[in-house]
Order: sequence, then C-alpha cells, then structure tokens
Amino acid sequence: MAAQVETTLRGPDSYSLARRVIEAMEAAEVWPTPVNFELWLYYLGEPDGPLGREIQRLLETREPFSEATADMLAAEYLPRGRLSEEIRDAGRVLDRELSSVADAISDAHSSNVAFSATLAEASANIESADDPEQLKILVTGLTAATHQVQAENASLEQRLDTSTQEVARLREHLELVRRDAMTDALTNLANRKAFDIQLESATKAAETGSSSLALAVLDIDHFKRFNDTWGHQTGDQVLRYVGSVLARVSPEPRFAARYGGEEFALIFPAEKTTAVLAALECVRKEIRSRALRRRSTNDDLGAVTISIGFAERLPGETAMSLLERADAALYESKHGGRDMTTRARNQQQAAA
Ligand code: GH3
Ligand code: MG
Ligand code: MG
Repeated sequence: MAAQVETTLRGPDSYSLARRVIEAMEAAEVWPTPVNFELWLYYLGEPDGPLGREIQRLLETREPFSEATADMLAAEYLPRGRLSEEIRDAGRVLDRELSSVADAISDAHSSNVAFSATLAEASANIESADDPEQLKILVTGLTAATHQVQAENASLEQRLDTSTQEVARLREHLELVRRDAMTDALTNLANRKAFDIQLESATKAAETGSSSLALAVLDIDHFKRFNDTWGHQTGDQVLRYVGSVLARVSPEPRFAARYGGEEFALIFPAEKTTAVLAALECVRKEIRSRALRRRSTNDDLGAVTISIGFAERLPGETAMSLLERADAALYESKHGGRDMTTRARNQQQAAA
C-alpha cells in the first residue's frame, strides 16, 4: 500500500489526492505540517491499515493531535520512519557487540599480565628452590595458572566468534534494508531514488572519463485506458512484464529503473549509439508483439506499446538537463503517434 501511495503521487491523481489530504486535515483540525501531511497521505491511502486505524482511534479521543503524537506515529508507521528505526536498531546492536569485544580484550589483557607476573615469580623461585617437594609445588602452581589462562583465552575466542557472527548478520540485514530502500516493490527494478543516484554518478563518471553516456525514458502508451479496461491488478502484471524485459536487456553497466507509475528509464554508460538504439528497438518490438493474457482468466488482452525518448549526454551537461532532453524526446514520440523512439537533437543550448 505504501508503494501504491508513492505511485499515485507521481501519477495523474496526485493533486486530487493531495487536495483530499488537506481537506481531511482541515476537517480534523490538524495543522498542515509536513509530518502530518505525510501521515494523512498514508491514512487516506489505506484507512483500514494499521496507521489508519490508529489515527481514527486518536481522533475519536478528541484530544488535540500533538507534534509528539505525530512524531511517534511517523517513527512507527511511515516507511521512512521504519527505515531509520531499523538503522537505529542496527546501531544499538553494533554498539553492544563492540563493547563486548572491548571488554573481552581488556579481560584477556589483564589475565595475560597476571600470568606474566606468575611466570616471573615462578622463575625467580625455581632458581632458589633446592628440594624436589618445593619444585613440585611450584610446577603445580604453574600448571594451574596455565590452565586458567588457557580457559580465559578459549572464552575470549568464543566471545569474539559470537560477535563476529552477530556483526556479519547485521551487515547482511543492513544490506537488505539498503536494497529494499532502492528497489521498486512491484517490478524489482531499481526505484526512482536509486535511478537518481545512478544517473548522477554515471554523469560524473562520463565527465571525468570523457566517456559517452546515453539515457532513455520509456512510457507505456495509453496505459490508463488499459487499466480502465482490464483493472489495476492486470495493469500491475503488465508493469511487471515490461520490467522483466528491461531487466533482461540491461546487464551491467547498463541500468534499468522504474522511474514513475508506468515510466521506466535505462542508463547506458560508455556505449556506441548504434548499440543503444538497437537495444531500444529490440525492447520496443518485443513489447508490441507480445500477446498478453490475463493470468486469472486467460483473457486475451492484446498488446501494449511503449514510446521512447533517447538522449546522448553533451559535454559538460548535467544529469538533470540530460533527463529533461530525454523527456522532451519522449514527448515527441507521444505526439508523433506513440510506439516509436525519438532521439533528442544534440543542440548545445541544453548544456548551457
Ligand atoms: P500516454 O500514452 O500519453 O502515456 O497515456 P497514458 O494513459 O499511459 O498516460 P497517463 O499519464 O494519462 O496515465 C498513466 C496511467 O498509468 C494512469 C494509471 O492508471 C497508470 N498507472 C500508474 N502507476 C500504476 C501502477 O502502479 N499500477 C497500475 N496498474 N497502473 C498504474
Ligand atoms: Mg506516463
Ligand atoms: Mg503512459
């Protein structure tokens, strides 16, 4: 549902949703602060979800909706809040493991110092020992001290082992959290945030290495009509299908992302334009010729087509300007009749 709200926010219904949010906040006499706005956004997106039920419960108490309450709800229920909660948890575990390791090392150090003292004392005593009984007592004492230090070392090893495992587990978990935050849940492609980061870094790399960089934006044609005819769930299946085609043509260093609702983007670092255009034609033709069927009923859904805008980076051009030119080329494809690829003209004006 959170993903659905994110999608709506970048679709044609975004402003009407935003207006409903403001109206609902005003009706509930809640200040339109950014946090409250976000809370109400997810509340309206899913009134019967855990956040929605909690807000309704709070409103029924007729208590003023305080900033502290808002912060608490945000930390508990909002996607970003949960993420920082996970990161805080990870920090706490790491803290605990580090202090356990530090304690273990300091214990081991003290026991080694004590053992050295025992050895020094024993060696002095051995030199002055002259009867076997005395020697026997010394050796028994040394054996006991050795056993003790061995036991302490074994326990240190055990504690280090446990901490190492715990830290490795933590690292895996954080990697999952990080990947989650960068992945589009529906298609498993990179999401818009990951795309923005990747396009920035690809732009820097192209600038530093004086290498080429191309960007394509792809948008499903008349997808609203498709949804209206076949339903949102079937629409989602199509988005997954398109995502899978893009994933297939994008081995590294290419990069595919779901950029918005039914919009996708492909980044092509350091590739010849002919290769990029060939890949895009391949994608466009594959999608237009695929006979889609509804999974549940096997209904024949026909095919969808996509329009593509494509731009090559100009020397010195920013990521944003490149994206704008690719978008403008996409717009031309839409106006030129859809189901086609338009290559942005390489005017220097865009780099200015
Ligand atoms: P155009 O050819 O001009 O791109 O027309 P269009 O209908 O594809 O474009 P428009 O921007 O008017 O509508 C996009 C539609 O995409 C609206 C919405 O129904 C659909 N959409 C956006 N995100 C999702 C999603 O996550 N799932 C589904 N099923 N549909 C979505
Ligand atoms: Mg669109
Ligand atoms: Mg579209």
